Amino acid sequence: MLGTKVLVSGAGIAGPALAYWLARYGADVTVVESAPALRTGGQLVDIRGVARQVIAEAGLTEPIRAARTGADGLSFVDSAGRRLASMGVAGFGGDGPVTEIEILRGVLSEIFHEATRDVADYVFGDHISGIRQRPDGVCVDFAHRPGQSFDLVVGADGLHSGVRSLVFAPEQTRLRHLDTYLSFWTADNTPGLRDWTEVYSEPGRTLGARAIRDNSAVMAFFSFRSAPFVFDHRDLGALKAVVRSRAAGMGWHAERLVAQLDDAPDFYFDSCSQVQLPHWSVGRVGLVGDAAFCASPLSGHGTSIALVGAYVLAGELARAGGDVVAGLRAYEHRLRPWITRIQGFGQGNGAMMTPRTALGIEFRRRAVQAMGLLPGGSLLLRDQVRMSNGFPLPGYSAFEVARSGERP
Ligand SMILES: Cc1cc2nc3c(=O)[nH]c(=O)nc-3n(C[C@H](O)[C@H](O)[C@H](O)COP(=O)(O)OP(=O)(O)OC[C@H]3O[C@@H](n4cnc5c(N)ncnc54)[C@H](O)[C@@H]3O)c2cc1C
Repeated sequence: MLGTKVLVSGAGIAGPALAYWLARYGADVTVVESAPALRTGGQLVDIRGVARQVIAEAGLTEPIRAARTGADGLSFVDSAGRRLASMGVAGFGGDGPVTEIEILRGVLSEIFHEATRDVADYVFGDHISGIRQRPDGVCVDFAHRPGQSFDLVVGADGLHSGVRSLVFAPEQTRLRHLDTYLSFWTADNTPGLRDWTEVYSEPGRTLGARAIRDNSAVMAFFSFRSAPFVFDHRDLGALKAVVRSRAAGMGWHAERLVAQLDDAPDFYFDSCSQVQLPHWSVGRVGLVGDAAFCASPLSGHGTSIALVGAYVLAGELARAGGDVVAGLRAYEHRLRPWITRIQGFGQGNGAMMTPRTALGIEFRRRAVQAMGLLPGGSLLLRDQVRMSNGFPLPGYSAFEVARSGERP
């Protein structure tokens, strides 16, 4: 695809990863990101199963491993902090509920950005405002710069994708809400965790803390069950107030963790929702990552499927040569069955993360205790691990081109 002009919208995880592979196959890539700079916020994300092969193919295993956080395991605790049931990273081949590669989202985004900044043009502080398709290309209008034509446009712009809303009908893009809201923020390590995660639940709400940054801080997370409600993503003050009121009166370390919300520079809040589209492209405009098939943080696979999706999309485009429409179709044809399985898994996980009843909390404790007693500790999670690894990764190295003086 030497010289194919591609516009990628969004410089989160999927966008820079896609730019990485497209550049290796010789495409001429521009990435437009609405934020004024790379968004380095967010908390821990997992790289599991097939995604580990993708980062190995990219030659990025070393920097990613070096930057991962040391998480050895997780315990469910009672209001006094007593550990009731625990599970470790060992025993699931590094792909269990506590994965071997957990990394701060912003650090992962920086690694892919760093690996592509010399081979792709990054434009920050702008976004696509209009898309017109022609048989031989796509005319794009931007909010702040003159319009331009591309051979292909890819929306890698997340759960609330702007590209998706420009090319799909509103009734096709309705999110599937999973009745759970989730927030993250960095806080002091008041629970005194050492490379460990603790989770405390009361009916309908869960608060947790995971040691990060050499145990000098924790990633606090809070989830609660609720029917969908309307909120403004940009109004962080209002969203913090929602978390405060929903977490009010909780036991364990709730008071001290929630008190630090005000100072948290990296507060993140969103609904746990899934994107389920009838197709992932319209003509020469495609989608990848959360924009195409968000499985929600409840799936534990959002970042992994974004990385695999970017790899397969670029590879199938390269295989199709200049025929971008055929490449987009082949990408969806290959990947969709696996993504559908992962989305199905994510739909059932709200009950595990945030049980609605005391009985549900007790059931979870017993299930986790049983895991520890079973041989190899992995029987109950065998299907999940199989699923994470259940996509045979195609090889696309034959389509790589060498560019003089540049190595992605
Ligand atoms: C700031 C932030 C924090 C997050 N924190 C967590 C977390 O703690 N835990 C977790 O599990 N998941 C988190 N996520 C989601 C997680 O990154 C994704 O589920 C997953 O990694 C897939 O990545 P993605 O690249 O498809 O989407 P994202 O990582 O969401 O990236 C999308 C990018 O597109 C940009 N964008 C949005 N709209 C436009 C537009 N109209 N034009 C141009 N650019 C646009 C966004 O600014 C963002 O940089 C976070 C996402 C963001 C943006």
